[in-house]
Amino acid sequence: MKNVHGHCACGAVEINLREYGNFVYCCHCDDCRRRSSGAVMSIDPGTSENVEFLKGKEKITVWIDEPIERGFCSVCGSDIFWHNPSDDHYCMNAELFDDIIKNADFQLELYYDHKPPYYSFSGERKRLNSSFEEIK
Ligand SMILES: [Zn+2]
Ligand SMILES: [Zn+2]
Repeated sequence: MKNVHGHCACGAVEINLREYGNFVYCCHCDDCRRRSSGAVMSIDPGTSENVEFLKGKEKITVWIDEPIERGFCSVCGSDIFWHNPSDDHYCMNAELFDDIIKNADFQLELYYDHKPPYYSFSGERKRLNSSFEEIK
């Protein structure tokens, strides 16, 4: 898809991805779950070349969780991005993008060894532990 539009819960932040498919993964790590009250559903749009902040970039508060920057809307608290400045790699909250999640291809779960036992997703997909080794 070209020009995939997304926004936070309150609408203060609007984003355009120049191009994206429908790959979605989730992260079960402690930081993601604590910040968002559960596994974070994410997309991997690549570098800032592909990510355009249309509105509200100044409303994004960035928590520097060395070396990663985690951005969230300072008005509504929506998780917006995970960014590694060393290679300009963005991952973003999949739920900001209606057109991606309606046909999401959910193929990967990260930090599966950090997932608490009280929930799990149905279906089969690749699962990696916190050392990025596959769990069979
Ligand atoms: Zn917001
Ligand atoms: Zn995480």
